[in-house]
Amino acid sequence: MNYISTRGHISNKSFNEILLSGLAPDGGLYLPASWPHFNKDELIRMGELPYPDLAFSIMTPFVGNELSDEVLINILQDAYSAENFSEIAPLNRISESEYLLELFHGPTLAFKDMAMQFLGPLFDYVLKDKGKRATIIGATSGDTGSAAIEACKNRDNIDIFILYPHGRISDIQRYQMTTVNAKNVKCIALDGTFDDCQDLVKAIFNDHNFSSKYNLVAINSINWGRILAQIVYYFWAALKFNINEHPVSFSVPTGNFGNVLAGYFAKKLGLPIKQLIVGSNRNDILTRFLRTGVMELTEVYSTNTPSMDIQISSNFERFLYLLNEQNGRKVSALMDQFRRTGKFTIESETFKEVRKVFDGDSFDDTETSFMIREIFEKHNNIIDPHTAVGIAAARSKREDIAIPMISLATAHAAKFSDTVKAATGLIPELPEHLRDLRKRKETFTRLPNNLSSVKDFLTDTLSNTL
Ligand SMILES: *Cc1c(COP(=O)(O)O)cnc(C)c1O
Repeated sequence: MNYISTRGHISNKSFNEILLSGLAPDGGLYLPASWPHFNKDELIRMGELPYPDLAFSIMTPFVGNELSDEVLINILQDAYSAENFSEIAPLNRISESEYLLELFHGPTLAFKDMAMQFLGPLFDYVLKDKGKRATIIGATSGDTGSAAIEACKNRDNIDIFILYPHGRISDIQRYQMTTVNAKNVKCIALDGTFDDCQDLVKAIFNDHNFSSKYNLVAINSINWGRILAQIVYYFWAALKFNINEHPVSFSVPTGNFGNVLAGYFAKKLGLPIKQLIVGSNRNDILTRFLRTGVMELTEVYSTNTPSMDIQISSNFERFLYLLNEQNGRKVSALMDQFRRTGKFTIESETFKEVRKVFDGDSFDDTETSFMIREIFEKHNNIIDPHTAVGIAAARSKREDIAIPMISLATAHAAKFSDTVKAATGLIPELPEHLRDLRKRKETFTRLPNNLSSVKDFLTDTLSNTL
């Protein structure tokens, strides 16, 4: 399989090349050049497979000859082992034809583990095979950082640096990163906001000398490997139903548009999906777009669903590329316009295509808390606020009550215990392996919000390990 960039200037890249990189050199995101299609018979057979084998069937065409079958299945079996996941994506019924797909049973209690637990060992294998080292640098508003650290800690060929905004993430999120204490992991508490962290990471990647000297790799959802791994659980959930009789629908709480985009790709691969519903908090750029066809930036608000406090959904560019018949020039023009003016509009024919599959709705903090309480009181299930936004969107926008609606549960309630306690009166308990989290020793480096301090810290640390 070859990979191309959404801006149209890069093509013929291999899976392993794009896996160990960031943005394409033309500023675009990587996508496969062609798409396999699974027919109904194949899908039915895939429904019988254990999770790692299902992942193997879906990923093989995308990986091509870059990894042997044996290597790929071994990595998948280790990634989705009982040691890493107490359960793998269980599907629970909450009411008549309404389901929750629980993606939070991994080491850091958010759905990001589902992809990251696969990506960490995969990076390490490919690097060892090539005799290379890589440096992962990422910014986090909470969940991505801990999932990446947990997946990459103690790996021989990887150094990982995570920047987070000092004093602006939850205690649990911070402890999950700062108490890992592995020698290849560095947590940077930046005196700034999440956007400052993100801007610094971008600036470091844009320094091409620095980037190639230290072999920088992106870990946020612009990395194709993450999206690919996320496609799998859409199949896993949908194939629990009789897809010969009816399709299924999904609802997904969304920030960077990474998770729900994986659902769109699952549909593209042949999975019968009727509706893909997007749930937003007050940062509703995507749900406004789904009403109007206009993507328009506003300021970022802080909400009780902090993992979705995002205005620019980077992964939307991949969707835009497919919508515009893989026309990289058109995508470049739209993205340029967006950067200059904070706004772009898509053509009405294209918008109709979008609305055939996608719908969405946004909810403020009060509505989100209300949904947490409702699910607790009526269905005796304690959900996290992000999951609540997804369920609220599903209930608001579902078209056909006969079609199963699967809401993605993206985090464990204990990760956002203050909001959950306020809504239900109960304090959700952390799972066993994290019970003593607050007692563990923290290690982090506090740095001022400027590029040279961060770069100096990276250079000093890396010159000691090389
Ligand atoms: C990251 C995250 C999201 C948003 O996922 P995207 O792929 O950015 O759309 C939603 N919920 C939780 C709990 C998250 O950690």
